[in-house]
Amino acid sequence: MAALPVRRMLRLVVDALYPPQCVGCGRWGDFLCPRCLARADAERPQARCGHCDAAWAGEGFCPRCLPLSRLAAVRAAFEFTGVARRAVHQLKYGFTRALAEPMAAAMTARLDLSTYDAAVPVPIHPSRQRWRGFDQAAELARGLPLPPAPGRLRRIRKTRSQVGLSAAERRRNLAGAFVYEGPPLSGLRIALIDDVVTSGATAAECAAVLLDAGAAQVTALAFARASYETSLADAPIRE
Ligand SMILES: [Zn+2]
Ligand SMILES: [Zn+2]
Repeated sequence: MAALPVRRMLRLVVDALYPPQCVGCGRWGDFLCPRCLARADAERPQARCGHCDAAWAGEGFCPRCLPLSRLAAVRAAFEFTGVARRAVHQLKYGFTRALAEPMAAAMTARLDLSTYDAAVPVPIHPSRQRWRGFDQAAELARGLPLPPAPGRLRRIRKTRSQVGLSAAERRRNLAGAFVYEGPPLSGLRIALIDDVVTSGATAAECAAVLLDAGAAQVTALAFARASYETSLADAPIRE
């Protein structure tokens, strides 16, 4: 009889003690039940900008894309609202590490991952990771069927909250906040992974660093896209 790997065995024990509960409706069995996922799919606006994936009913690309030109594109599985928003908050502040797995699976089912060579998570500052115990973007990246990049991004200084800052202020706030450490990314098409993309300023800054490290292109892939008109209360705290 083949023994189960220890990690998988522990996982079964933990799952038995704490069966997952849907973050949307509270039903037991899944962290994200099929019904709530279908609801989240329905909440994604049909008309979106082809470059940054934000809600946009106009012609061509939306006017907010200009500062995101270093990104090949932004792609998100869901709108940052309803169950998707609750999942992000639960992952971030509810310390539900196991939630990253079904969230990554939902991203895989909705985003075309075939055009990327490697995944790089947007890093959080080490002090925040110590506090939380894990990095939510890294957990999402781990759950995607993409190989990790040969090196990693590191956040070398804390940035203040981006809420209420103009585009120029956001860029200044983020300048020099990230470094790439590792072998050159020579010609790799990088999927830059984050839980939420709001202004895209953080992703654009990371993309600039990865392109300097040799990446052929960088696309931001997120679990959820916060379109621009979020109220202060809706704004994710991470960016
Ligand atoms: Zn549900
Ligand atoms: Zn756009």
